Amino acid sequence: MYAPFDLTGKTVLVTGGNIGIGLAMGQALADAGADIVLWGSNAERNECARNTLAASGRHVLAQRVDVTDEAAIVAAMAEAIAEMGRIDTVIANAGTGGIATPFVETTANDLRRVLAINLDGAYFTAREACRHMVARARMGDPGGSIVLVGSAGTDSGMPRFGPYAASKGALAPLMRSILAEHARHGIRVNLIQPGFIRTEMTDHFREKEKTEEWILASIPQRRWGHPTECGGIAIYLASDASSYQSGSTITIDGGFLAS
Ligand code: NDP
Repeated sequence: MYAPFDLTGKTVLVTGGNIGIGLAMGQALADAGADIVLWGSNAERNECARNTLAASGRHVLAQRVDVTDEAAIVAAMAEAIAEMGRIDTVIANAGTGGIATPFVETTANDLRRVLAINLDGAYFTAREACRHMVARARMGDPGGSIVLVGSAGTDSGMPRFGPYAASKGALAPLMRSILAEHARHGIRVNLIQPGFIRTEMTDHFREKEKTEEWILASIPQRRWGHPTECGGIAIYLASDASSYQSGSTITIDGGFLAS
């Protein structure tokens, strides 16, 4: 039977997997048969998400990890590999929008905080995933999918979100660098760029009537995306259906960037 989207026997790690887009991806992946490792810095949210995903009958490991802490990422990845046996796909999704601030008023702290979560976090998560996948390749078992989560906003301009734009804009070159070095180990790297998706991160946009109006006018589909609408692409990139897909930037934005 041809079932390239069947994830049975595969393990996927999703950072920022306890709410929003990450949780929706985790749910979709578990429903498609994957075992899940989820990371988040909030233990209560992790437990709640773990229980939700475990209802699918899959093996779910929730780990409390602050992705700004390189040593914590190294330790958690090692623990996850030891418990799950292997990790086939890593989705570096954890992120923060930062606080809307006029560019000329941003401080070093504003910049450092956002870069630490969105860039350092994705960088070291991808590095640890890569180390594991390279080690496996050297044992004769090449393969692995790394997914970075950027933002459609980096291609459109993001007034008052300079640190966010800078942090997410660095991910495409990072993707190209990793895949140029590690395609020979069978590792694929892709970048997802969500547009406007209804989550806790974007709550504050919706509270402002004018911003909400502008956003809806900018999206050809005239609506926000739902986190579940990012689930399908997670399944695809974790599955054998995407075996020749690497270096792609995939936008999920209701037509926002194209219009
Ligand atoms: P949410 O705010 O809903 O979720 C953010 C997730 O990141 C949470 O699980 C949170 O877990 C985790 N996280 C934040 N900081 C850390 C940290 N220091 N260590 C570990 N985990 C952390 O955001 P979304 O679901 O909306 O966003 C998910 C990704 O998609 C982000 O990278 C975001 O930039 C990107 N994106 C989202 C868009 C949207 O419209 N929603 C648009 C474009 C991109 P915890 O609180 O437990 O730390």
